[in-house]
Amino acid sequence: MKETDTRYMSDLKLAIVVPCYNEEAVLRETTVRLTEVIDQLVEASAVCPHSFILYVSDGSTDATWSIIEELHRTTPYVRGLKLARNSGHQNALMAGLSAGKELADVLVSIDADLQDDVMAIPEMITRYADGADIVYGVRRERKSDTWFKRNTALMFYRVMRFMGIESVYNHADYRLMSRRAVEYLCRFRERNLFLRGIIPLVGYHTACVYYNRGKRFAGESKYPFRKMLSFAVNGITSFSVKPIRMFFFLGLMFLLIAFATFCYVIYSYIRHQAVEGWASLMLSLWFIGGCIMTGIGVIGEYLGKIYIEVKDRPRYNVEEELL
Ligand code: UDP
Ligand code: MG
Repeated sequence: MKETDTRYMSDLKLAIVVPCYNEEAVLRETTVRLTEVIDQLVEASAVCPHSFILYVSDGSTDATWSIIEELHRTTPYVRGLKLARNSGHQNALMAGLSAGKELADVLVSIDADLQDDVMAIPEMITRYADGADIVYGVRRERKSDTWFKRNTALMFYRVMRFMGIESVYNHADYRLMSRRAVEYLCRFRERNLFLRGIIPLVGYHTACVYYNRGKRFAGESKYPFRKMLSFAVNGITSFSVKPIRMFFFLGLMFLLIAFATFCYVIYSYIRHQAVEGWASLMLSLWFIGGCIMTGIGVIGEYLGKIYIEVKDRPRYNVEEELL
């Protein structure tokens, strides 16, 4: 029997993992909305009543943690994890997922600010019941984002594709993962986390649900331009050695130019058109440039290999065995 046939939904324990960095303005409302969703799912026997919300306070400096403590005491589903310092969104999410996988069968990650439609969660659970191990929440449109954010994001996806990195267009970190998918994810030991790039490497059957992304409910974005840029650079350099490899081809191009220059120099020399010293100067300029560039490219190739080895990523993920 396939595993998907044995997914008894009413025993299903759901964890909703929410990274929070200075989110005192939204936490109460987020709890109300997520509680509603869990209540609804419990009612429909889609998940069990031991399901929970796991807030991860990412070194917040405001009242975030005390609000989580209070909600844990006064509301049925809230649990919390407090990181000792600000470790960044991706690390906070990872902390929540790896703690949550010990307690739940299926985990949904969502931002604290209610920009992602919480009503997509029941649909994600349905997709899980149909056999998907990873369900991506995909934004239908980006009307609520500024022109700037929309276009920089689009450019980012294009560059990622060009660099050969697989990622789901218009999907951020709103997704459902089964426990076994999270377990495999936890085997990626790298420090520079870019979850959107890693998750397609997990494999399994995946699905998408579409939703409209709203405005931040309250508070300010925790991703200023500076953080966005470093996130993008990190995403590209964590997955692709293409940028260093390009130097090799640039070097080859320079050598080609050196060869063309060589022909031209000889031609000018024979016709006595050249100023003295020009020929040797031009030639050595392109030739040395080309040698240095290809040299860097070769070093880059080795460096890239070392980089990939150092990450020590798992090589494959076994889904079923008939041994
Ligand atoms: N976040 C975090 N640590 C950080 C920055 C952000 O845990 O260092 C959380 C934040 O609380 C929110 C989520 O990551 O739940 C996404 O942040 P935000 O909504 O500010 O990003 P935006 O939607 O503006 O891209
Ligand atoms: Mg947001």
